[in-house]
Amino acid sequence: MYQDRRKVIVIGGGLVGSLCACFMGQKGYHVVLYEKRSDLRKDSYMRGRSINLAISHRGRVALRSVGLEETVLGSAIPMQGRLLHGKTGALQSMPYDPVFNNCIYSIGRNSLNEVLLNAAENYDNVKVKFDHKLVNADIRRGVIRVQK
Ligand SMILES: Cc1cc2nc3c(=O)[nH]c(=O)nc-3n(C[C@H](O)[C@H](O)[C@H](O)COP(=O)(O)OP(=O)(O)OC[C@H]3O[C@@H](n4cnc5c(N)ncnc54)[C@H](O)[C@@H]3O)c2cc1C
Repeated sequence: MYQDRRKVIVIGGGLVGSLCACFMGQKGYHVVLYEKRSDLRKDSYMRGRSINLAISHRGRVALRSVGLEETVLGSAIPMQGRLLHGKTGALQSMPYDPVFNNCIYSIGRNSLNEVLLNAAENYDNVKVKFDHKLVNADIRRGVIRVQK
């Protein structure tokens, strides 16, 4: 039972959970993150199985607040705009934002997840437990049941 207000449990080590663990870790909370799957950084099946996603300004702000914006954008591909193909065959480019570098950035989901998990584990006060599945939670009492 977690009665200590400085202790936080995060369920799921995807993009949101691992980012959340970074936020909480940064604020000095004692965080335990439970992820039902195995560690994607070690799992050869998971490696390479990733759909790229696009990071917009909102995502950049979140990454910046945990000091990861530059790291992530360093390996991302800027997508300045879209190219429209007219019926006549004419091409027209449409920028996502008139301000240069305010574009969206394409990055592999797993790469982003890896950066976030690495960053979370870099906090001494954050522990990540893979192969642990949440099976029950009593939020009011602060009791959870996790299955290995
Ligand atoms: C095809 C596709 C394309 C997308 N493209 C974009 C895009 O371009 N840009 C963008 O911003 N967003 C995009 N999204 C949305 C984005 O993927 C989600 O917003 C994001 O993944 C949500 O993060 P999450 O951590 O909540 O969920 P997830 O990334 O799904 O992570 C949830 C984690 O929780 C774990 N879990 C689940 N149940 C349990 C349990 N009982 N116990 C322990 N662990 C558990 C899972 O194993 C998983 O690792 C896309 C989504 C899809 C499907």
